[in-house]
Amino acid sequence: MKKIGILGSTGSIGTQTLEVAEANQDLEIVGLAAGRNIKLLEEQIRKFHPRMAAVMDEKAASELAVKIQDTNTKVVAGMDGFLQIAAMEEMEILVTAVVGMIGIRPTMEAICAGKDIALANKETLVTAGHLIIPLAQEHRVKILPVDSEHSAVFQCLNGERSREVEKLIITASGGPFRGKKREFLESVTLEDTLKHPNWVMGQKITVDSATLVNKGLEVMEARWLFGVDIDHIDVVVQPQSVIHSMVEFKDGAVMAQLGTPDMKLPIQYALYYPERRFLAGERLDFARLASISFEAPDMNTFLGLPMAMEAAKKGGSMPTVFNAANERAVAKFLRREIGFLDIYDIIRQSMDQHRVVQHPDLDTILNTEEETYQWIESRW
Ligand code: NDP
Repeated sequence: MKKIGILGSTGSIGTQTLEVAEANQDLEIVGLAAGRNIKLLEEQIRKFHPRMAAVMDEKAASELAVKIQDTNTKVVAGMDGFLQIAAMEEMEILVTAVVGMIGIRPTMEAICAGKDIALANKETLVTAGHLIIPLAQEHRVKILPVDSEHSAVFQCLNGERSREVEKLIITASGGPFRGKKREFLESVTLEDTLKHPNWVMGQKITVDSATLVNKGLEVMEARWLFGVDIDHIDVVVQPQSVIHSMVEFKDGAVMAQLGTPDMKLPIQYALYYPERRFLAGERLDFARLASISFEAPDMNTFLGLPMAMEAAKKGGSMPTVFNAANERAVAKFLRREIGFLDIYDIIRQSMDQHRVVQHPDLDTILNTEEETYQWIESRW
């Protein structure tokens, strides 16, 4: 039995991880953690019988404890509860699938406790990659990518030498507004934005896909995961989402990983790496697919990607500002308080007012996040 814990079990990645666990009898769920959705968490507890469950919202945690009194699951609350799940002695691998920088501390806790990490929570590496990667090396734990693009690169690198890599080519679907210009984006609604052409995901990442912020975060994540300089990471739009990413080697050979868009594949690959298991689902039918097309990303319209590249090059605390400003802007957009293009303005102005701190420690990263939030709240 492989014993796993999931942070963010009630979200899109969390629930799909549980579907993978359900289909494989040798995966045991020992810990679950969620933000506040105790209705779904209770269902998950009754189905998977974890030893411990954490809820970030303390009031919701107390309510859950009463509801599941008849089970053997212990309920813990708040960040302390998340840290307890992260360090559970019996757990071998932790799936980090919360959304946002809240994932950093539990990920570090799990690494220090010697747990392998199946990493979906990209904000962790984007803002604290310079702390996480050396920590994982020190504790000899694996960071296994769950994001489909990073899993694709990881699969392409299997058995290859990293010094022979020329560049990583991260693919993008282009999102729901591919081909549109700024004038069009001025009047798009929340409903338009949440209609992703190929993937069904959480709301925040779906908005991030439409702004191309998500692609920017992925480039930053890839840089830490694979130790590749930002100038050696390209983005190409591949609207059918069939090629999940590619690696070009020194001799010009390009390896690609293809498949239907299904997050269960990278989740399962991370949980069983290096083994490949049967996964039910649709297979690629090349004759029906007929063509796979490519185009360059429109960096003049979709400013999420160039601003992310700029933040990555400035380094230090700037990726935290980029990420925090985007988090706050997307939350406002989801509450219909601002328009689509305001997301770019909030990120731009937040980055412009920030003075970079190089090599920030965890406290500096978390303070920078808070300062960015406060700066935005005082203006919007
Ligand atoms: P969802 O919004 O669907 O789920 C987020 C999860 O995090 C929920 O379990 C939620 O709990 C929990 N959560 C939210 N806020 C907090 C908080 N403050 N404290 C504790 N827990 C919290 O997100 P996704 O599953 O879409 O994405 C999760 C991560 O994976 C993100 O970093 C995303 O970028 C990344 N990712 C997602 C992909 C996808 O296909 N969805 C693909 C690749 C990467 P609750 O609902 O109980 O409040």
